[in-house]
Amino acid sequence: MEKLVIIGGGPAGLSAGIYASRALLSPTIVEGALPGGQLTQTTEVENFPGFSEGIYGIELIKKMRDQAEKFGAKFITEDVLSLQKIGENFEIVLGNGENILSESLLVATGAKANWLNLPNEQRLIGRGVSGCATCDGFFFKGKTICVIGGGDSAMEEATFLTKFAEKVFIIHRKSEFRASKIMQEKVFKNPKIEVIWNSQVVDVLGDQKVSGVLLKDTISSEEKILNLDGVFLAIGHTPSTSFLKNSGVLLDEKGYVLTAERVFFENLENLKSQFSNKFRYQTNIEGIFASGDCVDPNYRQAITASGISVSAEIEIEKFLSEKNNRRA
Ligand code: NDP
Repeated sequence: MEKLVIIGGGPAGLSAGIYASRALLSPTIVEGALPGGQLTQTTEVENFPGFSEGIYGIELIKKMRDQAEKFGAKFITEDVLSLQKIGENFEIVLGNGENILSESLLVATGAKANWLNLPNEQRLIGRGVSGCATCDGFFFKGKTICVIGGGDSAMEEATFLTKFAEKVFIIHRKSEFRASKIMQEKVFKNPKIEVIWNSQVVDVLGDQKVSGVLLKDTISSEEKILNLDGVFLAIGHTPSTSFLKNSGVLLDEKGYVLTAERVFFENLENLKSQFSNKFRYQTNIEGIFASGDCVDPNYRQAITASGISVSAEIEIEKFLSEKNNRRA
């Protein structure tokens, strides 16, 4: 029987792992069959405190993993297929068919940026194609770039990117945005931003780095090339929570795990009775906590995922010690 199983091997899971191992909980981190999370897909990370010269995402993850391991965290490189409550404890079923039992759980499985899944888009990630403006905007000083999407993220990222880029196109497949009016207004007022309506990106062009995109008009089907240096995807994120389907853990309509923090902060009146206001990062099931990008549709940064997870881990320590006291 484990005291704590952490599901997820990105910054969220590993930060919680460092704290939990130093609290002598000897946590098991189920890091997934492809460990490391989204950071392993980025190139240089310049905004993680403590690394003033920047650090490659993959190296940052390795350092976090080493740090957790040094203090006694154990790792299982498998996916979790499902989990269920058994009495006061939890059974986790792994991809290799094995089961683990634990007194508490932290779900920290993250979210994946959605891509268009065009062959050249995938090949050019980190060479002009990016899923994160906050992370990569800095590399496009004085350049021409585009943001794809029509939601709040696209508006926010396009506006943010004008700090660096000379020209920002927003390419949207419809003739209106779904983003909030106030964020649209900012975009329309910004002289560096030009919107290209009714257009789909059907290919990203470039050999070693991005040189343009091939656009298709969604009404006339006409195709044209737009020359530019960078392509930012802002077409939504998908939280990695499908394994929770039959667990009883409540998710929002997009699949993000609901915790008390969100339910009370967003005043979700009809859900409050199912959540205790004692722990911010506990789900509707006592003993299952959640943190990082899988609970956070808004900020999605490595440092915020780490921070939320450390708060969650401190709550888990309290939860386990209260459970022990009740038993004694
Ligand atoms: P959304 O799901 O709101 O928007 C995604 C956008 O991408 C839509 O315009 C959609 O087009 C477009 N899109 C989706 N798939 C494709 C595709 N295959 N090809 C082309 N375009 C595509 O995601 P966001 O990340 O923008 O926002 C997520 C949530 O976070 C929202 O609730 C948002 O309000 C919130 N948010 C809030 C912010 C703030 O308040 N500061 C900042 C950022 C996000 P279509 O419209 O045609 O469906």
